Amino acid sequence: MSSAQTEGDGIRRLLVAHVDAAGVTRGRVIPAARIESVLENGVAASISGAALFTPGDAPVSALGLDPVIGDLRIRPDARRVADLGDGWAWTPGDLRWADDRPFSGCTRSALRRASTAAEIDVKIGFEIEFVVAGEASGSLAPAHKGPGYGQRPLVRNIDYLDDLITALEDADVPVLQVHAEHGDGQFEVSLAPRHPVDACDDLVLARAVIDLVTERYGLRAYFDPVPPIGADSNGMHVHLSASRDGRNVFSPTDDGMPQPEGAAIIAGILDLLPAATALLAGSEQSYKRLRPGRWSGAWNCWGRGNREAAVRYTPMTTDAGPAGANIEIKPGDATANPYLAVAALLVGLRAGLDRPTDPPAPVDVDPGRLSDDERSARGLRTLPTSLGDALAELSASGRLREGLGDDLVDLYLAVRTPAG
Ligand code: GLU
Ligand code: MG
Repeated sequence: MSSAQTEGDGIRRLLVAHVDAAGVTRGRVIPAARIESVLENGVAASISGAALFTPGDAPVSALGLDPVIGDLRIRPDARRVADLGDGWAWTPGDLRWADDRPFSGCTRSALRRASTAAEIDVKIGFEIEFVVAGEASGSLAPAHKGPGYGQRPLVRNIDYLDDLITALEDADVPVLQVHAEHGDGQFEVSLAPRHPVDACDDLVLARAVIDLVTERYGLRAYFDPVPPIGADSNGMHVHLSASRDGRNVFSPTDDGMPQPEGAAIIAGILDLLPAATALLAGSEQSYKRLRPGRWSGAWNCWGRGNREAAVRYTPMTTDAGPAGANIEIKPGDATANPYLAVAALLVGLRAGLDRPTDPPAPVDVDPGRLSDDERSARGLRTLPTSLGDALAELSASGRLREGLGDDLVDLYLAVRTPAG
């Protein structure tokens, strides 16, 4: 939608959003008279509020920058203006310096670079899990009591879900399906695979739409890795597909393994995952979710269809058969910055393609059911089990520092390291 179209479409308010390294989506609203200018030139933002806040909104110094001094410019992507209804529109923005020089702490730009550097056609599709709950008799009550994956939670919330899907469709979010997840009050919205930057934009937009519609029902959506009520955990699973000259590199060969390039990508991602965990699971709470037995992918292994493996290989999809084969990376949650999380996976993908090795043998059992001896014989380990350990692995990762840039890694460490 161009600015001319926004006028023609009666857009009165433009919400300009960006996700900071703390994983928080920040935003501002532009009134009608300024929309055209902001789409063209961007909008000013304080350096602290745009880039130097912790997840709890405390300003920190990083990259030699004083959070009290200086401004950035948020440059909206006019290509991605989405309709939120009632004259409101939404657009994602890149962070730049006030004088329009690139800002090394912009996570959306980092993902764009990582996508180009991947040199293979990658598509990303997110699964968004969230719990819907509302106040009832002074306490919080989930919007449904299951059954998990059931028809009943859908039918009992039919008006809400209908409005939600309509609002997502109006915003051009490519929804594949919505289902009631395992936990009380929990739903999942799955999004179609798209170019990595578009997929992350879709995710951030979808969360805004989910918030908008849910609040209209007097309810609240909780995306937290461990929500305050209902389900045990909410994930942000990432489906990754890759094709070379139109051929899916994850399509299974006769022995059920992916093509050589697909196998090399799996090896590269698995090798990098311990260091990338901090970027996928960015909060202390994340490590209460990222535990065996929660289908959150706490085991650093891969397996065909295996929901306990960090990397779940799906050799075919219902729509496309083997041509739809992909991998699902499960450890991520909504406290991540999605642009950085996907950029880290692409750094692993690139490393795998640069130095192709076979991945370890796929694990086709639940590692939690094996004995310690069996696990050590197979070399099965969990991903980091605390934010502190995960940040230490990230800090020491030359590969992520090279792939994402030292500045972004240092900014991430500064805003994510708990004070004290
Ligand atoms: N809710 C689980 C998680 O936190 C995932 C369940 C599923 O496999 O969909 O990741
Ligand atoms: Mg799910």
